[in-house]
Amino acid sequence: RVMSSDISDDGEEVIELSLRPQTLSEYIGQKKVTDELKIYIEAARFRNEALDHVLLYGPPGLGKTTLARVIANEMGVNIHTTSGPAIEKPGDLMVLLNELEAGDIFFIDEIHRLPRIVEEILYSAMEDYFVDIIVGQDATARPVHFSLPPFTLVGATTKAGSLSAPLRARFGIVLRMDFYDEKDLEKIVVRTANVLNSNIEKDGAIEIARRSRGTPRIANRLLRRVRDYTQVYADGIISNIMADKALTLLRVDQKGLDAVDRQILTTMIEHYQGGPVGISSIAATIGEDRDTIEDMYEPYLLQIGFLRRTQRGRMVTASAYEHLGYQIPKNI
Ligand code: ATP
Repeated sequence: RVMSSDISDDGEEVIELSLRPQTLSEYIGQKKVTDELKIYIEAARFRNEALDHVLLYGPPGLGKTTLARVIANEMGVNIHTTSGPAIEKPGDLMVLLNELEAGDIFFIDEIHRLPRIVEEILYSAMEDYFVDIIVGQDATARPVHFSLPPFTLVGATTKAGSLSAPLRARFGIVLRMDFYDEKDLEKIVVRTANVLNSNIEKDGAIEIARRSRGTPRIANRLLRRVRDYTQVYADGIISNIMADKALTLLRVDQKGLDAVDRQILTTMIEHYQGGPVGISSIAATIGEDRDTIEDMYEPYLLQIGFLRRTQRGRMVTASAYEHLGYQIPKNI
């Protein structure tokens, strides 16, 4: 059962929910993560205990939220979802903790953005299932002790490095999500196409998968746009040629890079001789938010070997020069 109300009137969001795999066996890819989880879930169920706290980290859109729901389903418990920035005060956290029943999953997205005073309350909640807080002010202030049922905190973050050491240490299960390979993305695209009732050829799915930057969320978004295109310009059947035409129109190139990816690389080449250059300088030059570049763009460019991290900053690699049609400098 989903406890938080994230079903909006927005059609896409409703479809989004039906798209979500419900069980580990329906969850495609991330084999290392799901193999581990299977063991911990089975053991916890066998002992009739709450699952240990789980930290999921990795780039956005890789299915962390989806996986948290799968975990709840597999454990047969409720999931309560929130996010770091949504919990501003200790009181906000208390309201959420108060709703938990034994074994429930408490999912905090963007957990690295929890305010410090909230985070500190979580320490004892996670470790010993209690919270001591001060209620009232000045003369009437008194400490109050709350006991909590055993529960599982599932935290998701794009920035494992920004998590404080004490918080990180309280997660018994820490799992890194990787970009998906093309085969797995192809399966996700076909699965989504079926849910959307669209007609897709194998080659069409491969083309979309290949250009989705290893990310299911992007694959599903591109599929929707390609589907629109084929409905207007063709018979609605998503073939390789149609996918290529639609993606080219969307300015998604052969490697799956979009306009911003290319802008980052060309800026580095044209303004900074290919680097080394710091993320903040790149962000300032192209007028994009630093965190956005760091979380959404850089990881994939590093993954495909178009960027390299050095002590002095980021550098463009020879393959990126080549891909963008620049002459490769001799000293690279
Ligand atoms: P994150 O929390 O990591 O940013 P997310 O869980 O929000 O990502 P979603 O936006 O839920 O990622 O993923 C987009 C969609 O992709 C989901 O609705 C789901 O349909 C699909 N999806 C994601 N991962 C998988 C998977 N491993 N198998 C099948 N479908 C998936």
